[in-house]
Amino acid sequence: MKEFDYRRAPDVMGAVTLLDNDPDARYLAGGTNLVDLMKSGVERPARLVDVRELPLDRIEPSPDGGLHVGATVSNSDLAAHPEVRSRYPMLAQAVLAGASGQLRNMATVGGNLLQRTRCAYFTDTTKPCNKRDPGSGCPALSGEHHNHAILGASESCVAVHPSDMAVALTALDAVVHYETAHGQGEVRLDQLYLPVADTPHRETALPAGALITGISLPPVSVAAHSRYRKVRERASYAFAIGSVAAALDVRDGVVRDARLAFGAVASRPWRARTAERALIGAPATAETFAASAEAELAAARPLPHNGYKVTLMHNLTVAVLSELTEAVAR
Ligand code: SF4
Repeated sequence: MKEFDYRRAPDVMGAVTLLDNDPDARYLAGGTNLVDLMKSGVERPARLVDVRELPLDRIEPSPDGGLHVGATVSNSDLAAHPEVRSRYPMLAQAVLAGASGQLRNMATVGGNLLQRTRCAYFTDTTKPCNKRDPGSGCPALSGEHHNHAILGASESCVAVHPSDMAVALTALDAVVHYETAHGQGEVRLDQLYLPVADTPHRETALPAGALITGISLPPVSVAAHSRYRKVRERASYAFAIGSVAAALDVRDGVVRDARLAFGAVASRPWRARTAERALIGAPATAETFAASAEAELAAARPLPHNGYKVTLMHNLTVAVLSELTEAVAR
């Protein structure tokens, strides 16, 4: 591992100042992804600014009736919070579906959003990779890509975003708050991740040197009736090969409101707005759910070895929406 300078940030402005827009400096919180990447040589920061002890570890009611979640809240604390469990169950379920208990105790909300893809070529510095080394190529296109993107990818990169939490936050229209040396800013979750295009190394819309300070969950009533389902290749402690975050409001047999996002199918959590439009106002039936999934997945462009994801996501969407509907009827 390359030698690096370590500083503990005294406060938020101190953290931003210590990072000083330096492209060779990184914020360190739980370190559950960054330290792995440093060991493998993918990340080679000259300076780490430790933000773990900053007073950003609270979950509090926000003035609009929603919740504000501090950036250093651990994944474990987020999933266990009573308000999160009762008002945003898809979020608690998504967090619990990710990683192991030990990792959830260390990992933070802010860090979860900024974790990097687990594409095997990205983490192997002996291989070319446009995301790690722009212009070097994408071996996944003709190589191992059974868990790569079917939506929104490009010829430059077909990697998927690994977060479960971010999928639920995208469905909930969460807002990310950040601080820079020039002041505060915010960006909606569905605008946080940049389209891949030919610049896969540019991953988020955050300004250079920005420190995520928290996330706002809006007061979305439909979210109380929501679910997160993840499909993975083993029973625990594995990244998704497909996931669905869904919230459904069904009254008198008709879908009044719906939120839907897909995970592990694109470089970012995929907000399924086409499917949502097909759901709202339609009868809450398996036929409607299948039609909404088909409408969303019409944009899928699978690679030779990941076409199974189209069927998987279709079936998973129908299953989750059906479960939510049956739960209303009980
Ligand atoms: Fe790199 Fe993206 Fe290609 Fe993976 S899919 S090798 S991350 S460019």
